[in-house]
Amino acid sequence: MQISHNISLKQHNTFGIDVTAETFYHITTVAQLKKVLSEQKNNALFILGGGSNMLLTQDIKKPVLHIDLKGIEVISETDDNIIIKASAGENWHQFIIHCIHNNYGGLENMSLIPGNVGTAPIQNIGAYGVELKDCFYSCEAIDVNTQETHTFTNKECEFGYRNSIFKNQLKGQFIITSVSFSLTKRNHKLRTGYGAIQEALNANNISTPTIKDISEAVIAIRQSKLPDPNKLGNSGSFFKNPIIDLDGFRTFQQQFPEAPFYKITETQFKIPAGWLIEQAGFKGKRYGDAGVHKNQALVLVNYGNATGQEIWDLAMKVKEAVIKKFGITIAPEVNVF
Ligand SMILES: Cc1cc2nc3c(=O)[nH]c(=O)nc-3n(C[C@H](O)[C@H](O)[C@H](O)COP(=O)(O)OP(=O)(O)OC[C@H]3O[C@@H](n4cnc5c(N)ncnc54)[C@H](O)[C@@H]3O)c2cc1C
Repeated sequence: MQISHNISLKQHNTFGIDVTAETFYHITTVAQLKKVLSEQKNNALFILGGGSNMLLTQDIKKPVLHIDLKGIEVISETDDNIIIKASAGENWHQFIIHCIHNNYGGLENMSLIPGNVGTAPIQNIGAYGVELKDCFYSCEAIDVNTQETHTFTNKECEFGYRNSIFKNQLKGQFIITSVSFSLTKRNHKLRTGYGAIQEALNANNISTPTIKDISEAVIAIRQSKLPDPNKLGNSGSFFKNPIIDLDGFRTFQQQFPEAPFYKITETQFKIPAGWLIEQAGFKGKRYGDAGVHKNQALVLVNYGNATGQEIWDLAMKVKEAVIKKFGITIAPEVNVF
């Protein structure tokens, strides 16, 4: 196991924020992870995956555990389905490419989401009408206090919109080491009705799409809409889309009849946070090196040398403006440290 001291985390977070980690453990086996956990007993830890869902506002004094476990393994299969397990440090998109290559369906709508497999359950990642929970079978995680391995089923993870038990009751208590997925080998359930997927397929004259066609359509749409973190620092959607109740929604709709919304249940309505931020006048705004993306107001960006604190100050400015204009509170999706 490699241990480094006082290293910059700039290359380890997609916002490209330059903070220092006092102690950095590069962990490639479960045995190494258990050893560090037993040595660090009772110490608070900082768990790092691909760094694509975090805003670092200060140097990290806690030991940083970079979870870089690799490996993909078939657990069981029939003619129709497969249970496949990937270690936490596998890159999410590369894992999807592996599945598509082998004709395992289910994850294709979530192509090109940055980050690692082991982090995907934490916020129940999702895109283009599909969430991780739709294909999640189970995950293995190590208890940071006892170093014991626990297997969590789909139900036990209590998945919700960008949410799971790992962000609530069990926050900071488990480190996920692998995730198993239940995928289809034939009769794939293709989901083309969300966003611009169908349009992209039509544009390419694809009438009977494969999972690969869907993945490629999603990749093309994402590349046209979202800034590439390798070129412009960002962490994807900075805020979650707020969900409001029926009374709140009626008042909101009277005032803003043109506002887009998505009906979740008879009494719950999701409002696109990007629209709220745009209407509050922040789309394309720049303050020093911190900014709101010019095409997608939900994405805050680092033009180069912004500090985490500067990005956070901007996020708070945006939040206050949205409350003032709409009376709606938007909450960060990104983990702030
Ligand atoms: C351009 C862009 C687009 C994005 N689009 C989407 C999208 O469409 N949908 C979506 O849902 N998300 C999206 N995201 C957010 C992000 O990609 C996901 O949340 C991803 O799952 C984060 O993975 P990561 O490995 O980078 O996590 P990190 O940023 O490394 O960690 C995130 C959190 O999980 C904890 N953590 C990390 N690894 C583990 C582990 N093994 N066990 C326990 N805790 C752990 C960390 O401590 C931290 O609190 C996007 C991000 C970017 C930059």
